[in-house]
Amino acid sequence: MVKKIIPVVDSYQERAVAVGVEIGKPKSDFTLEDSLNELCLLAQTAGIEVIATLTQRLEKPNPQTYIGAGKLEELKAIVNELGANIILFDDELSPRHLRELEKHFDENIRIIDRTALILDIFAQHAATREGALQVELAQYEYRLPRLTRAWTHLARQAGGGGGRAGSVGGVGLRGPGETQLEVDRRDIRRRIAHLKEELEKVKSHRRQYRRRRKKSGIPVVALIGYTNAGKSTLLNALSSANVYVADQLFATLDPTTRRVILPDRNEILLTDTVGFIQKLPTHLIAAFRATLEEIAEADVLLHVLDISQPTAQQQAQAVFQTLKEIEADHLPVFTVLNKIDLLKDPRQTINILEQYPNSVAISALKGLGIDDLMRKLEEFLFTRQHPLTLELPLRETYLFQLFSREGIVDKVEYSGNKIFLQGKIPGRHLAKFTPYVYKIPEEKTPLRELI
Ligand code: GDP
Ligand code: MG
Repeated sequence: MVKKIIPVVDSYQERAVAVGVEIGKPKSDFTLEDSLNELCLLAQTAGIEVIATLTQRLEKPNPQTYIGAGKLEELKAIVNELGANIILFDDELSPRHLRELEKHFDENIRIIDRTALILDIFAQHAATREGALQVELAQYEYRLPRLTRAWTHLARQAGGGGGRAGSVGGVGLRGPGETQLEVDRRDIRRRIAHLKEELEKVKSHRRQYRRRRKKSGIPVVALIGYTNAGKSTLLNALSSANVYVADQLFATLDPTTRRVILPDRNEILLTDTVGFIQKLPTHLIAAFRATLEEIAEADVLLHVLDISQPTAQQQAQAVFQTLKEIEADHLPVFTVLNKIDLLKDPRQTINILEQYPNSVAISALKGLGIDDLMRKLEEFLFTRQHPLTLELPLRETYLFQLFSREGIVDKVEYSGNKIFLQGKIPGRHLAKFTPYVYKIPEEKTPLRELI
């Protein structure tokens, strides 16, 4: 199915045909159409206009050209007819698929996939040194196995966001018997090794900083959520900090931390993070592990959900999935339903609020519900005592003392080298105890019930 989109702005130089393929049965509620819509928004963020979309459902990808032969002809025709200069695939293409596809198109037509596009946007928005290093490394690792003629295209394109990536091809002096391609590969490998070293230095610096922050004893609350949900806007609203806010995907790349003072004068450190997205390629998650680790180190997560989106629930699922991947799914979550100003029927929020045990509805942009959020968050973190049953190793004396000092102990029993502890603790300390939450041993089904 081909869908032509009438251009809104004709000043875009980059004109793309987007290609979405559904392999096998649909795996989630996030449909091919949702995915393509998101791809268009991503493209727009990168300054590319999508002028047509093409979709196909396949049992498995064509081993050569990813899409089927007939679909390929259709793609060629539409690219010619509309004068597109980019073909944008919604899924990550293997090096082989990319090579095969390139054989079918002119040199001046670039074939890009979702991963390359996301990397490009990351590159444009990397604000700190660590962010810039992470993206550059991810870009090289992505490009190395795909180094064919695409390299010259990407090198040209890299002038703005791609940063230094573009210059590598020109730097290397060709050794005896080496092709330009080999020189390029060698240079990239050398650059990758250098970037890894640099990143290691930055990371150890960050670890020291984190340790210092922990010592301060102020609870760390990490803002998480789907990209564009309004995390940076909320950080601004809560801290009046001047963090970059834009109607773009991934406007925030690096964690930014602000001190926020709550109504009863309790303090928190609020950290803004990179947004999550459906189909975030695994090697991107790996590249941003350091940034994402920041999330796993938080005491509480503040999940911002854009409820004006029809796909809000799927976006929440994508967020929880990523939390699992970075091993942060044990942290307590406080949910913020954002953008209520865009809802036609405010009663919609009531249903959704009920699904999330700790939640408030707000508009970060209009400043609605911010006071309510601050009060409820403060209550959650500092005043309310949350029930907990623990099996604490005796050696964890620090945690036992913390519990006795900050919480309410209802019951203590010693057995062997463990303390069985029942009581309540304020939300800001919950995460420290999750490794020791008492699990009820699985009850054996009584024999007579089996008969
Ligand atoms: P982030 O990617 O989660 O950090 O999202 P941003 O804070 O950058 O916001 C993305 C877009 O949503 C921006 O255009 C914001 O102005 C807009 N936005 C954020 N909160 C609200 C809100 O409560 N209502 C409306 N209407 N727009 C909002
Ligand atoms: Mg942001």
